[in-house]
Amino acid sequence: LASLDFHPDPTVIDVGGVKIGGGNFVVMAGPCSVESREQLMESALAVKETGAQILRGGAFKPRTSPYAFNGLGEEGLKILAEAREVTGLKIVTELMDLENLELVAQYTDIIQIGARNMQNFSLLRELGRVDKPVMLKRGLSATIEEWLMAAEYVLSGGNQNVILCERGIRTFETATRNTLDLNAVPVVRRLSHLPVIVDPSHGTGVSAYVPAMSKAGVAVGSDGLMIEMHPNPAKALSDGAQSLTIPQFSQLMREIKVLANAV
Ligand code: PEP
Ligand code: MN
Repeated sequence: LASLDFHPDPTVIDVGGVKIGGGNFVVMAGPCSVESREQLMESALAVKETGAQILRGGAFKPRTSPYAFNGLGEEGLKILAEAREVTGLKIVTELMDLENLELVAQYTDIIQIGARNMQNFSLLRELGRVDKPVMLKRGLSATIEEWLMAAEYVLSGGNQNVILCERGIRTFETATRNTLDLNAVPVVRRLSHLPVIVDPSHGTGVSAYVPAMSKAGVAVGSDGLMIEMHPNPAKALSDGAQSLTIPQFSQLMREIKVLANAV
């Protein structure tokens, strides 16, 4: 079902009027985690101001250490929903487990499935029954074939609204957190009709590299970008090192707009 043979035209997903795929370029931005109402509102207003359409923010966080900040849970979802009310932005947030499926689906416009859950097949099967777009991040060590097969779980359950997100894979390189596999964009294009978004934040792990790799993500023909930004990256409770400041994000958005129109 993910294959171009089955569906020759690009899938266009309509998220309450924001179209993803088929030549519509979309930017999703916001902090890694929702930390407080103030932090998220400040981010949301800045995202809106740049013309980006979708606000991101994690309320349930998959952290390497169980002692790290795990997210605000439902309180974080409520703050996201409030930011949507105020700004009109659509929201995307991560769902980590089956247990919270209904709760997350009730608040969000797009359900994000994180890299670590890309092959959580029971979760993917349930998402097939949900009437919400799913953004499926590529697993840390998943091949493109495995990633498309994971998408197939959602599609075969009846949910045709799947967005793929390339967020970097594990390689031997240690200068960056992950290696953003931009090859994946043209490869996916040749194999599938599903939209593909590039996440240069997790793909590099270093804010200084995010602008260059964002522009590369546009140039390679992706359907959009997911970028982490934070009002004060040094104080961020997660992924501060890869988060742009608000002025850095605004500057990057100006450059992206020029480039996206040219590509
Ligand atoms: C995130 O988007 O903050 C995140 C945890 O992403 P990933 O699943 O790609 O690591
Ligand atoms: Mn993050």
